[in-house]
Amino acid sequence: MGTVFKVQEAPTVNVAGTGDSFPVHRIYCVGQNYANHVREMGANPEREAPFFFSKPADAVCPEGTQLPYPMATANLHHEVELIVAVGKNGTNIPASEALDYVFAYAVGLDLTRRDLQKEAKKKGGLWATAKGFDRSAPCSDLHKVEEVGHIERGKITLSVNGEIRQQGDISDMIWSVAEVISSLSSFFELCPGDLIFTGTPAGVGPLDCDDILEGEVENLAKLNITIV
Ligand code: MN
Repeated sequence: MGTVFKVQEAPTVNVAGTGDSFPVHRIYCVGQNYANHVREMGANPEREAPFFFSKPADAVCPEGTQLPYPMATANLHHEVELIVAVGKNGTNIPASEALDYVFAYAVGLDLTRRDLQKEAKKKGGLWATAKGFDRSAPCSDLHKVEEVGHIERGKITLSVNGEIRQQGDISDMIWSVAEVISSLSSFFELCPGDLIFTGTPAGVGPLDCDDILEGEVENLAKLNITIV
């Protein structure tokens, strides 16, 4: 007796400075968590609260990936984001205890097929094809809380071919890391291995083949990706 076929093992992300890897269980994302990005997308941050969507776990890809320009889009967009890596199980976590659930932090990209997202918004539809495609979640090595502390402020930037496109500060997040964890855990049981992409600041824009991307969260990590 056995399984009918083998599937890919859990995707992993490196834990910096340890030789260990972090197995990815689920990927959650926060939409509209920086007011200046909400405005550039044509919405009103006073009226619309941040919200959640998800990507498949195997959408994750590591530092240094040569990322093929995805199929089914002519408008691939970059969104640089702080990533929270969850280290223990919890539901209905109060914000005052939420940071205890953080194992590590990283910087990543919530790559988006903006043309498909625009179509989906028009139809009041779902974002699976716009957000959840293969290799849509590049993620730097993880840095453990013991090493870097909690990331509550600091510049978050993305440059393309050496030119800065996105710039913001972690302290500008509408929902803080603790509030994101608390709210998310009222919808889903958080588990070790979950990654949470916490939203992007203004300046999102299109990517082309041969673009070299560098995402950075100050005092945390850098992420380098090339579109091929
Ligand atoms: Mn995003």
